[in-house]
Order: sequence, then C-alpha cells, then structure tokens
Amino acid sequence: MAHSIQFQGAARTVTGTKHLLRVGTKQILLDCGSFQGARELRDRNWEPFNFDPGEIDAVVLSHAHQDHIGMLPKLVKDGYRGPIYCTKATRGLCAISLPDSGRIQEEDAYHANKRGSRHQPALPLYTEQDAYAVMKQLKTVPYHQFIDLPGGVKFRYFSSGHILGSAFIELYFENGQKLVFSGDLGRYDTPIIKDPEVMDFAEFLVIESTYGDKLHPTVNPEDMLAEVIHEAVDRHSALLVPSFAIGRTQELLYHLRRLQLANRIPRIPIYVDSPMATSTSDLYGRSNEEWDDEMSLMVQQDFDPIEPEGLQYVRDRNMSKALNVQQGPMVVIAGSGMANGGRIQHHLLHRLSDPDVQVLFTGYQATETLGRRLLDGADRVWIFGNEVEVRAKISRLTSLSAHADQGELMRWLSGFKSAPKKTFIVHGEPEVQDIFAAKLRTELGWEVAIPEHMEEFSLDI
Ligand SMILES: [Zn+2]
Repeated sequence: MAHSIQFQGAARTVTGTKHLLRVGTKQILLDCGSFQGARELRDRNWEPFNFDPGEIDAVVLSHAHQDHIGMLPKLVKDGYRGPIYCTKATRGLCAISLPDSGRIQEEDAYHANKRGSRHQPALPLYTEQDAYAVMKQLKTVPYHQFIDLPGGVKFRYFSSGHILGSAFIELYFENGQKLVFSGDLGRYDTPIIKDPEVMDFAEFLVIESTYGDKLHPTVNPEDMLAEVIHEAVDRHSALLVPSFAIGRTQELLYHLRRLQLANRIPRIPIYVDSPMATSTSDLYGRSNEEWDDEMSLMVQQDFDPIEPEGLQYVRDRNMSKALNVQQGPMVVIAGSGMANGGRIQHHLLHRLSDPDVQVLFTGYQATETLGRRLLDGADRVWIFGNEVEVRAKISRLTSLSAHADQGELMRWLSGFKSAPKKTFIVHGEPEVQDIFAAKLRTELGWEVAIPEHMEEFSLDI
C-alpha cells in the first residue's frame, strides 16, 4: 500500500491547516482549517477543495481554532458524509464557534450586498445552518484511546496543552510506521489546562512552528495587567482588550481573578463583550477532565478561577453599544483578538482617538489585520468606512501566547528518543520556519522538510 501526505494548508503560512494522508485508496484528512489574514490567502477559502470531499474517508481534528476547523461546514456542504473525530471539549467548542462563524459570514454578505459588493450578490462561504450540519458528524474520542480508521490506520489523542480540548495525534499505519501530528503545541505551566504530554518516537513528524524562531518574554503577565488596570483607574478610562474568545479570554479572567485574590488590583467593572467568549467560559468551567491540578484545586476551594469580581458578560447588542459611552475605569474584553472583526471594532471606533484609553493586545497579530496596523504604530486607521485618529495607548501582552516558543518546541522534541525519518515543519511564516529547520538540522541532526503549499511527500521511505 502506498502512503503519502499532502500539505493543503498551513504550508509556509500559519493558517488553513489541511493535511491529507493517502493510504492506498483511502484518504484521511488531518484538520480542515480556514485561511486567515491576507486577502490572497483568504481567497483560497473560496476555491474548490483540492480533493473531492465525497471521497474522503475520515477527518481527524487536532483542536477547535478556526484555522484548524473553519472549513468543516464547507467540507460537509460539498459532500463529506464520514466521521469527524475530535475530543469532547473540541466538540463543545465547535458547537460554539462554527455556527457563530456561519452567522458572521451571513451578516457580512448581507452588509456587502447593501453596500454594493464587487461580487454580485455577495454570498457567505457557509451559513449558520451549514455549521449545524457538521455537528451530526462529529465523533468524540477520549484521550489515549486507539480509534480505528479506514485503511488499517489507527490513531489516538494526547493533550497538546494549547487550548481546551487540544490534542496532538499519534497515528499508526497498517505497516506499523507511526506519524505524529503536533496540531498546535501549547506551553508548559499555563493556567487552567494541562501541559503538553510527552511523545517519544515517530517515523514521521509534522510539527507546527508558529514561534519556532523566538522565545516568549518571561515577564509575568499579571504584572503588566496590574499596571494597565491601575492606569485605567487613575485616568477613569477604558482598557480595551481585543481577545480571542477561545482560551485567551479565560486565561485573562484567570489572571484578573488571581490579581484580585492577591489584592493587587481594585475592583472595577470587567465586561466580556462577546457571546462566544461567554459560552466558551461556561464550557471551560464545565470541562473538568481538561483542567490542570491548580485549576482543580481552586475550584475545590470555591474560588471560581475564571470569574473575577465585577465580571459581567455582555450578550445583548444594545448593552454592548451602551458600553461605548460608559465612563471608566473599566475593562472591556471583546473579540476578535486581531481586531479584524467582532464587537471590539465598535469599541475601537469610539475610543481610539481618546489619549486616556489603552488598548492591550493579547496575542499574535497577523499581517494586514487592524491589530497589526495598530501595533505597528499607525496614526490613522479605517473602521467601518470611518477614518479614526489613533491617540490611545497601544500595547501588547506578549507573554500570553497559547503557542510553544522555540524553547518549548525543543523541550517537547527532547522527548523523542530517536530521530524521525522525516520531520515536516508546518504552520509558520517562511522566515521563522527556515530558522526552526536550521535549528533541528544543526542541533538534533534531523532530516527536515518545509513543505510548500500542495506539496506531497511519499511516506514509503
Ligand atoms: Zn490553535
């Protein structure tokens, strides 16, 4: 039987993960993510899949970020009827984020048509209804338990420590060879969720490299959070935090709670202005099988680790609008994390020109997003067709990444007792991948490839 892997996304870029395994006549898709960021990448989402969805035999998901699951509704709409394997928490997150994504696309298409779109009529990539159709095909799988796939393949999940439900995948072919797909690797000793588990061997390794070139700053995020909150109190102003609904928001709430417990910050209103973050926080609070020891202990002691005092979830759109004119001090946490969509854009539109306002970014900002432009120091930006002068103080909490940095990637790789036959570096910007590849070649002496988009490699070596 012939074995191969083809990289149909996240090749020389950080989004759009879709790795297609071919085992004889069977096809197994690892993740089905959407491309994000630059328009030329996003345009790929609109092209037909580079395979026939009806011919795929199984889909295995690593975790529920859009760049790993975002194309599932289109996959199903275009004819995929087989199982989509995932962990229980990943299913929970899919149920929250996929319909939301469909709804946003329908709204965007509606507004584009009202404005007069370059496409007539503008259509959503998929609808909320398409997203619900995916849910019927999701099959939840416990960690560590082998599951049979077509072609004599079997796989199991290990915790990857990235977000709730995130896993790396250990997959055995019928010939006994093993492929490990890292998914996205998280960090060690982060709040709420477990650390990445150890993997000690694979013939073939597919590893992400988002931060393969650098080390995250070791600054304590709580120090910086305390500082910006005190500044908001002194200036009676708003602290706007563009935040990813899944994971990052809960981590922020956890740190705010700890700061309160240590009496390091005064009690001020904290608004989470995102229906999706609200549902996600609820899921984090219920997924006790995902918690690390510290989180479990805090829950046992009744500390509500992700519910700081003064917290209010804003579901209602009118209440969200009311926040635009509310006097600080207050914290407004709203999506999206890169400020290229979501309610945070309304808050930025209303407050960016106020020099007393602070904007605190909490994660990676892709090129061509509003977040990247603000962090790069733009003095004017366009939001909803309005030119806005940027006078607010812009900063970034660099230490809150959900991705392993170079040292943590190397730490995880140090679990390997021998070199894989081949290591494929995916999910990184080209310059970063080159640096990471060079490190693996020189320090570990490993055989490394950096796949190009759509490049296919034989695994019969
Ligand atoms: Zn991810």
